[in-house]
Amino acid sequence: MDQRGRTGKVWLVGAGPGDAGLLTLRGREVLERAEVVVFDRLVGSGLFSLFPERAERVDVGKRGGCHPVPQEEIEAILVDRALAGRRVVRLKGGDSFLFGRGGEEIEALLEHDIPFEVVPGVTSALAVPACAGIPVTHRGLSSSVHVITAHTRAGELPPLDFEAMARLKGTLVFLMGVGAAGEICSRLVKAGMPGATPAAAVERGTTARQRLLAGTLESLPERIRASGIRPPAVLVVGETVTLADRLGWRDRLPLSGVRVLVTRPRERSGRLARMLRDAGAEVLEFPCICTETLPGPLPRIGGAGWIVFTSAAGVESFFALLAEEGRDVREIGDARVAAVGPATRDALRARGLRVDYVPEVCDGAHLADGLADRARGGDVLLLRAETGAPGLSEGLKARGVPFREHSVYRTRCAAAGLPSLDFDAAVFTSASTVRGLADCLPDGWDRGGFRAVCIGEMTARAAAEAGFSNVTTAAAATLEALIEATIRTTVKTRNEGEDL
Ligand code: SAH
Repeated sequence: MDQRGRTGKVWLVGAGPGDAGLLTLRGREVLERAEVVVFDRLVGSGLFSLFPERAERVDVGKRGGCHPVPQEEIEAILVDRALAGRRVVRLKGGDSFLFGRGGEEIEALLEHDIPFEVVPGVTSALAVPACAGIPVTHRGLSSSVHVITAHTRAGELPPLDFEAMARLKGTLVFLMGVGAAGEICSRLVKAGMPGATPAAAVERGTTARQRLLAGTLESLPERIRASGIRPPAVLVVGETVTLADRLGWRDRLPLSGVRVLVTRPRERSGRLARMLRDAGAEVLEFPCICTETLPGPLPRIGGAGWIVFTSAAGVESFFALLAEEGRDVREIGDARVAAVGPATRDALRARGLRVDYVPEVCDGAHLADGLADRARGGDVLLLRAETGAPGLSEGLKARGVPFREHSVYRTRCAAAGLPSLDFDAAVFTSASTVRGLADCLPDGWDRGGFRAVCIGEMTARAAAEAGFSNVTTAAAATLEALIEATIRTTVKTRNEGEDL
């Protein structure tokens, strides 16, 4: 109980096997309200963006860089935080009760009368084979599935009844078994299974780094050695392994095997992230900037010839300020409305304002030219970001168009750290997101080691200035064009890699 008499609670949440999309809805709901998140090594880094910004993060997967925190210490952390009255989410890879020591943690909570809830997770034992195209049961091939731990203590397999397993005729899934694959396969053969029984290893399943190695009980161990497959990986033994050739689905998607960092502010990343995932990418959301509405008051609006919006965030802040000040959108009167691009136009339309002008090329200079050509009575009112690109105002000045500027929002660097440095591409929708990411990268890190996919020239210039040497600019300033550019350039990179 804390000083206010509040009792804490612990939610044991299964995080799923790695892909952030495989967290359950209930898991997400409790995670988003957590005050403390205690997480494991196997929790996908794609989930980090769901941790509340202010939550305490306790990484028990590694300490001093490599060794995990001992179990008793994890339990002590849970008890300590819950007794302090906090909402604690204990996030574990897969499901907490499948080789996840969830029961032990609950025993520790019970000893202190701490309330708890268990949110089941999608286990790697089923989901990893599924993402590799291996159904764990299949009519006519296998009518049972058995999940076995091959966790070795001091290099020894636990006592396992291989004769019983050989008799089962079902699919066998071994967790924690890559290191012992040789011994597992040979003991299954010794116990009576044919050496030609199909067997596979799937490494880092459900993520962009997923690798499938298929063979037989006889051939698999050597293949594992040769390919250097490392944990986490599952071993699957049984006839259904042969279905992977036909049922494997991930490789058919254009961005399969590609990890993409999405840098937009949280409230705007949704559609882009979904489109990337639809194309097969693993998405890491890293909102490296966030937008804040600046304090009002808004300037006088009536009498302006044009009202110009330079981003969807500006539209939102404008309407937030109008409402806050008790004002009304009818003040716009007969002013015309201009938007820098389609996303801004759509944000205005959604608020019931029809847009009179969007330049063909979505940047400040073209917008300024278009406004000069369409000058009417009254000045131009620019509603913009505090430190926006100067192209628009410079263009208007050069063309002698009278204008007023008013900043309605600012962008600032988000507090959370980068979830992972392992990504193939980063997608940028503004120069400020480029700078936001650049500020978070460690010194000396290879800034050419990933593809920087930029929505337009301004953004690409900022990327070059940030030292990103592998820059691509989308053919148009739309999310569709960004996805297309990501596919085009990362697929090329992969093919080049294969030629080497
Ligand atoms: N509770 C977890 C399992 C923990 S034991 C669950 O339900 O999934 C850890 C083992 O899970 C690893 O050694 C590996 O065998 C398996 N594993 C977890 N995530 C995996 C992944 N993404 N790909 C392959 N194997 C995985």
